[in-house]
Amino acid sequence: MPSKSTKVKLSPFVNEAPTNFSNPKEAAAMKKAFEKVRAQFGRTHFGRIAGEKISANTDFQSINPCNKKEVLGTFPNHTESEAEKALMAATEAFQSWQKVPVEKRAQYLFKAAALMRKRKHEFSAALGLEIGKNWGEADMETAEAIDFLEFYARDAFKYQGPQAVVKSPKWLGKEENQMIYIPLGVGVSLPPWNFPLAILGGMTLAPIVMGNTMVLKPSPDAPFIASMFMALMEEVKLPKGVLNLVYGGAEVGEALVSSPLTRFISFTGSKNVGLRINEVAAKTQPGQRWMKRLVAELGGKDAIIVDREADLDAAAQGVVQSAFGFSGQKCSACSRVLVDEKVYDKFLEKLVPKVETIKIGDAEQNAVMTSVSSEKAFKKVSEYIEIGKQEARLLTGGQYRNENGFFIEPTVFADVPKDARIAREEIFGPVLSIVKVKDLNEGLEVANSSEYGLTGGVFTKNKKKLERVREEMMVGNLYLNRKITGALVGVHPFGGFNMSGTDSKTGGKDYLLLFVQAKTITERIN
Ligand code: NAD
Repeated sequence: MPSKSTKVKLSPFVNEAPTNFSNPKEAAAMKKAFEKVRAQFGRTHFGRIAGEKISANTDFQSINPCNKKEVLGTFPNHTESEAEKALMAATEAFQSWQKVPVEKRAQYLFKAAALMRKRKHEFSAALGLEIGKNWGEADMETAEAIDFLEFYARDAFKYQGPQAVVKSPKWLGKEENQMIYIPLGVGVSLPPWNFPLAILGGMTLAPIVMGNTMVLKPSPDAPFIASMFMALMEEVKLPKGVLNLVYGGAEVGEALVSSPLTRFISFTGSKNVGLRINEVAAKTQPGQRWMKRLVAELGGKDAIIVDREADLDAAAQGVVQSAFGFSGQKCSACSRVLVDEKVYDKFLEKLVPKVETIKIGDAEQNAVMTSVSSEKAFKKVSEYIEIGKQEARLLTGGQYRNENGFFIEPTVFADVPKDARIAREEIFGPVLSIVKVKDLNEGLEVANSSEYGLTGGVFTKNKKKLERVREEMMVGNLYLNRKITGALVGVHPFGGFNMSGTDSKTGGKDYLLLFVQAKTITERIN
């Protein structure tokens, strides 16, 4: 049990500001960072179990999706046996880590945040080279990673020591009552590839700062960034075994989820994998002494409603930013626009030229739109484009090529039937479906008919309609008259409803409670 905390004075949390790359100094520093990261390419990497380097019988490579000839590194394909060893190391480390006071645990996060801030451009360059984020998108992600560390480290103090309970009534006799929070035990962190620094860092270190120990298995599409993250945590001297790292895909991930040693799972990824994990985690294994807790943040089919009373320029701008930022590869990305028939044609006239000016190129050259993240993503998204060509009217884009990297044009389909596959299924790429609706009533009906409920938005100048949308649009993060992406830690706690997950609200005031259990202690006083 963590010891009672002494008073510590903390500065208030402040979000990390974006870098201004129009400043030539910053641009030059960013270019240098690319060189520095590239100098680390070509190495063979290892997992980490209780601080020991761990290899495997087979390997896989991470490649630059904008230039597929470039190999970032070779990584071990770990299996069930390494998963079990990592969980055992975490179980052992938990014995001492749970007793480390919060002041000390938080310091590791503060130190890591400070180092990440110092090397911000290196982390951002790695995001460009491994998953194709342009400078601005990568910079925002690194800033978000720093924010998560700073935010959770501060928030952890709130849950230390006795929490408020109601005073016991006189007729109960004299007694003293306390409720305290204690950590859960050993957790597994399974992050997605699309925010392989910020989401990975947040969902792994939030449990750690609350006294749990972790096994991290990053996405096989972004192992290089995970190796940088692990090196950072070693540099701040996080005690051995508190964070363990294994590499690989679904096989090792599922071994971690099913092990009786696992107490909880912190997962962010697709709906199908999340539902599979939910099933596997629910099955009790021989020797298992607890019900596993699953925190799962899943996909979305996020809609923006464009009302007849909308500012159509602002709506077109907001839709383009939400749909094509990082090639639409954000869980929050807009993939459906539900446009009032009264302004449908006018809206399309404003939207198309904005989409057609988007330049596609290399992340390192800071193109507005770059490649998609991998060959797998390229195949999936291009298949959906072909489905879209059957289901609706191609308005712009629709071309894709993969000679050097995995490039897909920003693609817009109009006149999409509301029950078409491209209007219902998560595509996770630069493909936008426009659905014509009669009015706001139908807009809300179509928006809410999705099995998902992550982000959503509306553009209208009518205040009464905005009030109605606040109440009726069923999404975890609702945006009015602005883009629907770019949630800021602490400012926009993030998480979705229904098949978008357990609504854990990352970067929110309750998130850390997901990684503790409450214990009530009552003492009779004579
Ligand atoms: P994914 O579901 O394919 O993989 C996520 C993680 O789970 C990876 O580490 C993967 O290796 C692992 N995994 C795969 N199969 C597994 C299994 N059977 N058992 C255990 N682990 C397994 O997702 P992805 O393609 O990496 O990421 C994109 C998805 O993530 C999209 O659907 C996107 O919407 C979603 N996402 C959601 C949020 C959110 O906050 N709601 C944020 C980012 C991404």
